[in-house]
Amino acid sequence: MANVWSANANFKDGQLALCGIPAQQLAAEFGTPTFFLDEKDFRDRAAAWSRALNDSFGKDAGTVYYAGKAFICVEVARWVEQAGIGLDVCTGGELAVALAAKFPPSKIQVHGNNKSVAEITRAVEIGVATIVVDSLFEIERIAAAAKKAGKVQAVLLRLTPGIEAHTHESIATAHEDVKFGFSIASGAAWEAVLAVRKHSEIELRGFHGHIGSQILSMDAFEVAADRLIALLGQYRDEFGAELPELDLGGGYGISYLPTDEPLSPSVAIGALAVAVHAACKKYNLGVPKISIEPGRAIVGPAMFTLYEVGTTKNVVLESGATRNYVSVDGGMSDNIRTSLYGAEYIAVIANRTSTSESRSSRVVGKHCETGDIVIRNIDLPGDISPGDLLAVPATGAYGRSMASNYNHVARPPVVAVIDGKARVILRRESEADLLGLDV
Ligand SMILES: *Cc1c(COP(=O)(O)O)cnc(C)c1O
Repeated sequence: MANVWSANANFKDGQLALCGIPAQQLAAEFGTPTFFLDEKDFRDRAAAWSRALNDSFGKDAGTVYYAGKAFICVEVARWVEQAGIGLDVCTGGELAVALAAKFPPSKIQVHGNNKSVAEITRAVEIGVATIVVDSLFEIERIAAAAKKAGKVQAVLLRLTPGIEAHTHESIATAHEDVKFGFSIASGAAWEAVLAVRKHSEIELRGFHGHIGSQILSMDAFEVAADRLIALLGQYRDEFGAELPELDLGGGYGISYLPTDEPLSPSVAIGALAVAVHAACKKYNLGVPKISIEPGRAIVGPAMFTLYEVGTTKNVVLESGATRNYVSVDGGMSDNIRTSLYGAEYIAVIANRTSTSESRSSRVVGKHCETGDIVIRNIDLPGDISPGDLLAVPATGAYGRSMASNYNHVARPPVVAVIDGKARVILRRESEADLLGLDV
């Protein structure tokens, strides 16, 4: 059974603790709901992906870009920089956070399927490492911005290798019928290659593919690598020069449930290296610089959400069975993944042990929406009561980063915990914040 908790979380006398601080103490100091981030776990995971890439492809033969969309704030951007890895951003807002953290632009890669002219201009002006191109329009926009800035901008072309990774439909991104990238099969990818080559202000560095998210086996990555490298071979055949870079994206899965068995960075990247080397041999190419973009696999397991239970309600179903509805003080505003993707989580009572018989339960939020569900089906102790603390693990990725103000609920803070000390790195929204936009 995989561990769904971060490395420095454990249970003592039935109470959850992070770096030795009991959940009850964390709740008393920081309130609920709150995201607690195991800082050392985050840093160790970032380092492990970096080490895996170095071990499998050779030192400095590639780059790990942390996918900031999973979760980013100024403090976390600093940790990413300190880990010696790069940062992926996909909007001007994410770029602004990186710049506020003084993240070096030379280690920033810019994504997005509809980057505005303003976003492109700023990225070019500050000198980001690469822009990952997603449409023909964008090629013209980048060329114009680079010309104006008197620069040559390095780019990758985002390609769809035509693979359905085994994951939920909304997060499978590389089959054909999607908004992202240029399809290899339809010839759109080659058309983009030709379009880029018309501009002396753009340097085509290579190709990019991101095949999905929460992927727990390597076969789809291996097929994608082969298809992208085949196109690198076609490029060399046509133009006589090899492109120097290949970015194989993120998507590495984590344990949401104890039955989800993720691949370790060394196993995943080891397998990727075997596939990349085989494909390069097959197409008679040198091994390019390899980039990967893990987001979820670095921050996802490093956070849990702590809620307080407000009410419980026993509901009799049509079948005659009963379901205990357990309402917590957050919900779809801090975790939209359950309603958006049908994501599954576990939860535990964090402040005490219970010997009470477990009951079929549903964890719901406080929003005016039937679909406001944190956990659709879970067995929880029958004596769960108002005032109990409920902890949901593995909420670090796409939790706080997708949070909303629905129902004018203030978004929760993120508290970093390390070496027995806890500190707020992103504060809780206040009523003043909620009213701050009204003119
Ligand atoms: C979302 C995304 C990632 C990160 O995905 P994870 O599943 O969090 O690893 C990486 N690259 C691109 C282009 C993405 O869109």
